[in-house]
Amino acid sequence: MTDSASSPTTTAVTLDTRGRPLRDLRISVTDRCNFRCVYCMPRDTFGPDHAFLPRQEILTFEEIARLAGLFTRLGVTKVRLTGGEPLVRRDLETLVAMLRSNPAITDLTLTTNGSLLARHARTLAGAGLSRVTISLDALDDPTFGRMNDARFPVAQVMEGMRAAEGAGLGPIKVNMVVKRGWNEAAVLPMARHFRWSDQSVRFIEYMDVGHSNGWRLDDVVPASEILAMISAEFPLEPMAPTERGEVARRYRYTDGAGEIGLIASVTQPFCGDCVRARISADGKLFTCLFAVAGHDLRSLVRSDASDEEIEARLRRVWNLRDDRYSELRSAETVGLPKVEMSYIGG
Ligand code: SAM
Ligand code: SF4
Ligand code: SF4
Repeated sequence: MTDSASSPTTTAVTLDTRGRPLRDLRISVTDRCNFRCVYCMPRDTFGPDHAFLPRQEILTFEEIARLAGLFTRLGVTKVRLTGGEPLVRRDLETLVAMLRSNPAITDLTLTTNGSLLARHARTLAGAGLSRVTISLDALDDPTFGRMNDARFPVAQVMEGMRAAEGAGLGPIKVNMVVKRGWNEAAVLPMARHFRWSDQSVRFIEYMDVGHSNGWRLDDVVPASEILAMISAEFPLEPMAPTERGEVARRYRYTDGAGEIGLIASVTQPFCGDCVRARISADGKLFTCLFAVAGHDLRSLVRSDASDEEIEARLRRVWNLRDDRYSELRSAETVGLPKVEMSYIGG
């Protein structure tokens, strides 16, 4: 055990080979999920026989909090809990409280499909969660049900959203992945619905994460097309980015009805500003969403390595980082072994 999560940090900015600092840490707390989104965990791969990680291979809350504490010494200030579906992990609020006790973590957020949020919003807020991002791919049940492939109704996610707002976990960002031929007809209804609300929708290009989703470039609806679709009905103007590493290009409605974000990872890659690392549920460190292999942190935290030794190892990994997959995405990268989004954490 260690008190690194609560001890004062000795932050020294660590840069990778492309001069990018490390600011954001995404932690996957489970590889399991109660949805089977077609673009993430398609049922033919993630069926009843799929072998999820056994419990003993998953990092404990103490291990996660220790690692997060060491990452703050490298410059991390933002931590996002994700998965799989993070709310299927029991007692998640305990982890939230442990992370919250680290003053270096100024932004502690959660990405969720929202299905279990109505039950957990208050406890999570009470434990110190700052905000939530909720994924929602359509507002009508037939389209949403086809996307999540688990018959989850929109109303249940909306109820979670209301609970989160009521608990003070707003303003909420809503993530919508757009897949050609599946839900592009839901783009305008989503834009319409969330105008004049505190929530902002981020429209996400369907990405080639993992292998199971059978990604094809033809399935991607480019952000430019989404922008054209929305602005034809509601004029939009670009907003300046507020910070380095902001992945969404933000636009505001000219009539003052709020803003949207476009995450164009495929058509307009943003690797040059990528300040993000990910830890998978079994404790592997990935310095890119498309990395082929992770660095095993679990054996390190389960060995007798000191905080200083682990910190030095993390620094070395980040210093050597050269990733820019999306900028290179081409014939060269097709067929490379890649890890699944539900494992690495989106
Ligand atoms: N289960 C939670 C959820 O859905 O919000 C958290 C994990 S999920 C992997 C995180 C985000 O990744 C979600 O917003 C999801 O829509 C997005 N995502 C998953 N697969 C994707 C893909 N192939 N392309 C783009 N975004 C994807
Ligand atoms: Fe589950 Fe989220 Fe992946 Fe959908 S996107 S299958 S909700 S992990
Ligand atoms: Fe970052 Fe890798 Fe995505 Fe580029 S492809 S933005 S380096 S995660």
